Amino acid sequence: MNLNRRMNNGCKKGNRKKKNISLIRACRNYRAIGKSPEPKGKTETTGNMPIYIIQKHAARRLHYDLRLEMGGVLKSWAIPKEPPTVPGIKRLAVQVEDHSIDYASFEGVIPEGLYGAGTVEIWDSGNFQPIEVEENKIVLSINGKRLKGKFCLIRTKFQESDKNWLFFKLKSKR
Ligand code: MN
Repeated sequence: MNLNRRMNNGCKKGNRKKKNISLIRACRNYRAIGKSPEPKGKTETTGNMPIYIIQKHAARRLHYDLRLEMGGVLKSWAIPKEPPTVPGIKRLAVQVEDHSIDYASFEGVIPEGLYGAGTVEIWDSGNFQPIEVEENKIVLSINGKRLKGKFCLIRTKFQESDKNWLFFKLKSKR
């Protein structure tokens, strides 16, 4: 079981008996005191396969936040429509600011008045294997519950912005 899932299980089910420092730390962050329940941002790598997560975020506009653990942070993209589970569907994925690793376990409500106000829930989680990582192209094998297989992110010049990528599933070769 990867750290991410352990964190989720630990935080969600109140299973705090496992003497796991990372888990306890994750839960402490999860319960961070402040205006927002969001984690405050510690960098912590899992040491295993990199984290893959999609959070469904019911903000002013519903979207899906794809996050991939790369270089000690969660590289993040906001996808305005449901992420593609089969080949043939291309989704716009707008790159947003990097998030800290501990954000991967976050579910909860960001209060009114704060940036991103609304409910965040984990839509899919697991890990991924990078196959090709370039400036404008990322090919990866995703091992999640909803998304499985080879996926691609390609940067586009849509609307003159370099934040816009396309996210889609690749056809398997058989
Ligand atoms: Mn979001």
